[in-house]
Amino acid sequence: MLVGIDLGTTHSLIGRYGPNGPELAPNALGEMLTPSVVSIDEAGHLLVGQAAKDRLITHPGQTVAAFKRWMGSNRTTQLGVHNFTPEELSALVLRSLVADAEAHFGEPVNEAVISVPAYFSDAQRKATRTAGEMAGLKVERLINEPTAAALAYGLMEGHEEARVLVFDLGGGTLDVSVLEMFEGVIDIHASAGDNFLGGEDFLDALLTAACKELEIDLELLSPDVLAQLERRLEAAKRELTQKSEVLVSLPIAIGDRANDGWLITQDRFVTICEPLIQRMRQPVERAMRDAELQPGDLNEIILVGGASRMPMVAQTLTRMVGRLPLRHVNPDLAIALGVSIAAGMKARDARLEETVLTDICPYTLGTEVAKTSSDGQHFSGYFLPIIPRNTTVPVSREVSVFPLYDGQKEMKIEIFQGESPWVKNNIRLGRITVALPPSAQRGDSGVDLRYTYDIDGLLQVEAKEQWTSKVHSLVLQQSEHQLSEAEVQERLKKLAAIKVHPRAQQANLAVMARAERAYMESIHDREEIQHWMSMFQQLLETQDLKRIESARKELNQRLTGVEANL
Ligand code: ADP
Ligand code: MG
Repeated sequence: MLVGIDLGTTHSLIGRYGPNGPELAPNALGEMLTPSVVSIDEAGHLLVGQAAKDRLITHPGQTVAAFKRWMGSNRTTQLGVHNFTPEELSALVLRSLVADAEAHFGEPVNEAVISVPAYFSDAQRKATRTAGEMAGLKVERLINEPTAAALAYGLMEGHEEARVLVFDLGGGTLDVSVLEMFEGVIDIHASAGDNFLGGEDFLDALLTAACKELEIDLELLSPDVLAQLERRLEAAKRELTQKSEVLVSLPIAIGDRANDGWLITQDRFVTICEPLIQRMRQPVERAMRDAELQPGDLNEIILVGGASRMPMVAQTLTRMVGRLPLRHVNPDLAIALGVSIAAGMKARDARLEETVLTDICPYTLGTEVAKTSSDGQHFSGYFLPIIPRNTTVPVSREVSVFPLYDGQKEMKIEIFQGESPWVKNNIRLGRITVALPPSAQRGDSGVDLRYTYDIDGLLQVEAKEQWTSKVHSLVLQQSEHQLSEAEVQERLKKLAAIKVHPRAQQANLAVMARAERAYMESIHDREEIQHWMSMFQQLLETQDLKRIESARKELNQRLTGVEANL
């Protein structure tokens, strides 16, 4: 079966294109959103999702979250006896999602379409593909998240030409794209983003403001008190999307304010977040500028990502572009639904025949050139763009380059990616060296340099000698940490060897992890929680599934009660 996967920084989802259109698969706890968190327990078993998320508080040293931010880098994380790369952590999340999809749809999963932020670099895209392979999946295609969102909104079905802005504010990232669609063709015209702006930053802003107003020294808070305070503020942040004010109870006594709590109003929250709102505006302005659009040219705005539920997001965008965003698809599910539709397209579902997707190259690709001043001096290090960012792919562009001086022996053609006028600030991708004929003259004996960027985001560079028509091709430098096929297989084996709790036990593990976290956070209810935990553990021994299930429900309800009174 071919599935669609939204591999998010905060949450991940899986679905397929079924008989009734896109369908998402719930995890073992019955939830569509699985937290992208991985933990290894005392017995060396792997936990993914909500149980792992609770362990972020109780076992921070064995637990990791938000690793999508490290994709494409070689940062590793030690969990128990294992050392994991970001690809491996992502592969563990993917594996867990696949198990959920297999259980829900009742078919083996072997292929996937995975969504990635539109501004993900080549290295980040390759890392995502590798993660899929390490999870035993054939990654049929990577699709840009905004394209998936547009698919979910069914915007490609209109026959009028439409221009759409997709604004995706997730846990840690903002991704803004301008798409154009016409008769089932979706074209990304521009994308811009902020890799370090998301819902978590709004939480941080709340935390900073609370500590300042309550005169709490953040540095002096113990990790568990800090974690509790953050959880309460996160809940308050969500409540503020519905209410005009929220009273946050405090996990610690602060002077005589012990029982007063902290009152936060919607207006105050907006004021606190003003710098973040300003940062939100920049990618929107840049994407509009790159797409050469005025606000009035946009036909729709789509809000995606959990953090876009905050009213200040819709307000800011409405003010900027003068129209209200569309809201009929759940912002948490939009990308997953869209990527499931993309999976249907990949599987050549006849119902989707009319829809075509195009993609863009997210960065400018070019070469290094020298400039000659009027007195004949050469200044090197300038960047010459060949394929500008946001060009629709596949694309092939050619420029000619010439020797700088008479008698030059060879030309070193450097390949760069980036937006700076100086190559030193851009990323070097490789070099082609072409030997020049002995008679080479300045401005003569040129080389035709052709850049071709294909639909999978792979760049090919060819340099043709004008005097012989001989072509030199460049195999792009592999990034240092890129793995060979054999290495991928080896990692796949390593990951497969990590024990996973049986699916049937996952809900029980999750409630125990939740209870443990509640115990840590609670002051007054500890004895009771411990008692419930021991009762539940004894019941687990009996293997009486019916009784276990009803006891689990009851324990979850009790914990909800405890959390409400913390
Ligand atoms: P990602 O794509 O990064 O995985 P999501 O789209 O799942 O992220 O968004 C997660 C973020 O959305 C978190 O920061 C969370 O606090 C925020 N969020 C989720 N629901 C709400 C809500 N109702 N109100 C405000 N923020 C929310
Ligand atoms: Mg997302």
